[in-house]
Amino acid sequence: MTDVLSMTLPELQAFLLEKGEKPYRARQLYEWLHKKLAVSYDEMRNLPLALRSILETEAPVHAPSIVEKQVSKIDGTRKYLFGFADGECVESVLMNYHHGNTVCISSQVGCRMGCTFCASTLLGLTRNLTAGEMLQQVYAIQKETGERVSGVVVMGTGEPLDNYDSLVRFLRMISDGNGLNISERNLTVSTCGLVPGIRKLSEERLMINLALSLHAPNDELRKELMPVAKSYSLTDVMSAMRDYYDVSHRRLTFEYSVIPGKNDTDRCALELAALLEGINGFVNLIPVNPVRETVYAEAGRGDALRFKKKLEKHGIHVTIRREMGRDIDGACGQLRKRHAEMSEGAGSTCREDG
Ligand code: SAH
Repeated sequence: MTDVLSMTLPELQAFLLEKGEKPYRARQLYEWLHKKLAVSYDEMRNLPLALRSILETEAPVHAPSIVEKQVSKIDGTRKYLFGFADGECVESVLMNYHHGNTVCISSQVGCRMGCTFCASTLLGLTRNLTAGEMLQQVYAIQKETGERVSGVVVMGTGEPLDNYDSLVRFLRMISDGNGLNISERNLTVSTCGLVPGIRKLSEERLMINLALSLHAPNDELRKELMPVAKSYSLTDVMSAMRDYYDVSHRRLTFEYSVIPGKNDTDRCALELAALLEGINGFVNLIPVNPVRETVYAEAGRGDALRFKKKLEKHGIHVTIRREMGRDIDGACGQLRKRHAEMSEGAGSTCREDG
């Protein structure tokens, strides 16, 4: 089967050329898929019936199903659990900021990075998502709400740089003028710090924002929280981040989940200040979300505010992540995980509701 949804326009042109079709047909097909967000070939009225039927057989497209949807009563944040044709599910979130609709997408089904505070990694990695499946999360949400999505953050389940080729393909296609045309400046990738991936990304010359999940100001504590820190030292990660800034000139984000008593001490603040010395970036504090299986107690906004003050004394620019939709399954991966547990008895990874 051909994965037509993950193909760039030139690839689609080559694919259709083999079938004796003119290049403009590829453009039409690309626009149906990525601009008009068609979910079946039947909708593509300006394509010849014979071509549509060939495509239906050789390159079927399946829109993901909405397995579950939660809408926050507090702020309207919407959390979706999408199901793909093979029964796997991923979470995506629509957040409504003042400056537009931002969708947070997943890049993998599960994750193998093993961060100790994160629900997404508890069941390990099942598989990578294709570029098409990353796009579909955005498309499905835009179709469902009828509102334009203006920004995407790759901050859901999965480590985007562990699925590098599909990630870059996704970034190029979502910002393509023949598709949704979302500005690169409104795209953000969040990584736990895979140094070779960060370095490769620099070479792509994409003007996207990069966020590093830092969570600790020294290697010792970081290794305790994030197994990835055993492979890459903070010196190497920070050097890769600095180099990314030098080519992209995009202000860097450092995510820091505040775990009370663990990574929010005076000493941590001091070390963090030294680590970020001279960097054009800011720290985004996330009060750690409670995950049943982890040992950390829930942090509140007060904890984040206290640590923010400590950091600001050292001249660091700090924001506190707005707590979107805390009344719905907030923490990364919790919705999918709950579903997987419920479905175990039913013998499938994911199950449609009703
Ligand atoms: N793998 C990528 C993106 C996915 S997680 C990364 O590591 O950046 C998105 C962000 O949420 C990361 O900063 C992650 O560390 C954080 N996060 C995960 N679980 C959390 C929890 N329970 N509480 C607070 N932040 C959490």
